[in-house]
Amino acid sequence: MTPLATTTDTDTYDVLVAGGGPAGVAAAVAAARSGARVALVERYGFLGGTMTAVTLGSLCGYYTVRDGAALPVVGSFATEVADRLRDCGGAPDKPVFWLRTASLPYDPFRLTLVLDELVGAAGVDVLLHSMVTGVLRDGDRVTGIEVHSKQGPRRLRAPVVVDCTGDADVVAQAGGEFLPVDGPPQFPSTMFRFGGVDTDRAATISRAELHAHLERAVAAGIDLPRTAGGMYSVHPGIMHLNITRVSDRGRPPDPARTEEFGAAEAEGRRQVLRYEQAFRGYVPGFEHAFVLDCGAQLGVRESRRVAGAYVLSSDDVTGAARFPDAIGCSAWPMERHGAGRGTQWGWLDPGAYYQIPLRVLVPRDLDGVLVAGRCASADLGAQASLRVTAQCMAMGEAAGVLAHLATEGAQRPRDVPAERVRRVLTDRGAFLGTTADQQIHAEQIHAEPTRAGEHRTGGNRTEERDDQDA
Ligand SMILES: Cc1cc2nc3c(=O)[nH]c(=O)nc-3n(C[C@H](O)[C@H](O)[C@H](O)COP(=O)(O)OP(=O)(O)OC[C@H]3O[C@@H](n4cnc5c(N)ncnc54)[C@H](O)[C@@H]3O)c2cc1C
Repeated sequence: MTPLATTTDTDTYDVLVAGGGPAGVAAAVAAARSGARVALVERYGFLGGTMTAVTLGSLCGYYTVRDGAALPVVGSFATEVADRLRDCGGAPDKPVFWLRTASLPYDPFRLTLVLDELVGAAGVDVLLHSMVTGVLRDGDRVTGIEVHSKQGPRRLRAPVVVDCTGDADVVAQAGGEFLPVDGPPQFPSTMFRFGGVDTDRAATISRAELHAHLERAVAAGIDLPRTAGGMYSVHPGIMHLNITRVSDRGRPPDPARTEEFGAAEAEGRRQVLRYEQAFRGYVPGFEHAFVLDCGAQLGVRESRRVAGAYVLSSDDVTGAARFPDAIGCSAWPMERHGAGRGTQWGWLDPGAYYQIPLRVLVPRDLDGVLVAGRCASADLGAQASLRVTAQCMAMGEAAGVLAHLATEGAQRPRDVPAERVRRVLTDRGAFLGTTADQQIHAEQIHAEPTRAGEHRTGGNRTEERDDQDA
């Protein structure tokens, strides 16, 4: 076997990316395509993060829906992923419409292959089975990371580290500031797949009907934490379920507490078995269903959120906010998986979207590190919208571009003009808002940071619960 590395071994890169989920892969590929020497460090043996380790039903956040049409609100990297998935039979040609939105179902295994190809073609050094366990720092500046693998401990240095670990592990190790829990937190779910499903029959069941069937199961004594949820099918006979809800003494288990989170994993598996019983007994089309598999880990919707140069607010989301330093857009509702058996949705107006400012990727109190993905700077409500995968890819791509520009110019990321990042993203086909929006706000690009609530266009704050308890 290869001899163990020692902690004195140090490799130097232009950009380091911690975490190989949708944000991390986008960041690594974007920086490498700009010419940076990039290492991507991932604790599992495959890329995709929650999309493949937890296995989601569909790629959300890609569209806004207006007059029955699904219009993309992202481009560039996210579009490339969607196109490659379709090309290899890993996604249907058209999105699926549900509630007031639309999303693209995908095959998690094929996604791992698509992501392997993307990082390979971009020339990223991918370190799988490698856990980021510490940081190297010089005062408030992060200068690298410590990684543990079967090879032993290892140090990697770079002028910029992009933290895409979902739980903001790099920022935590560096002693960075996090946002307080400013509302009801979201609970995690164990995702699973049923085989043996009559998927033609199941496809005729509305969310309201599913809710009614599962409430009958609850009335018959089956203990289900949730009776409103999502079902997605990419292959005949197989149904993917987003329907469990795991808590630890009434609050979400903390992924940073090993014993607590491990117990929650076991509870998630027990819930899956109870859903098998409920579906077989009470939901048409599932009479012969069996649990095919569940995700490699419990799916965490929210944990640490970094305090950034700007904190995206719930009002920004529902008010379709505009920002001079916009690096992406989102129309996804605030989808909150709180306590109780339902899910709460806070919608934007049909066809509306908000912009994502670059500043949510820049930690307030640290240099040499950026964040992207679900740990970006947003209040709890805004995070419930921003966290979906298309927006994580958009944020990751912007962070990768910014990291390369900062390294190339020997600048702090916060000192790189947002306009330069926006120009690269636009050249790559990213959607940053309509041409009219870009013209209106072009002169504000170097303006002072906006306060929450500025530059809104319409929007409303309709909320509904995805069950009949409201
Ligand atoms: C149950 C559930 C259902 C969801 N359903 C959908 C859906 O249907 N559609 C949708 O678009 N979104 C959905 N989401 C949201 C979405 O999946 C996530 O918010 C999104 O994947 C976050 O992307 P990310 O890149 O920020 O982080 P993650 O996807 O969490 O990726 C983080 C990566 O970092 C790695 N990592 C973590 N810590 C370390 C470390 N210390 N060292 C090395 N590697 C590390 C992880 O292994 C992982 O690969 C769902 C989320 C959950 C939990």
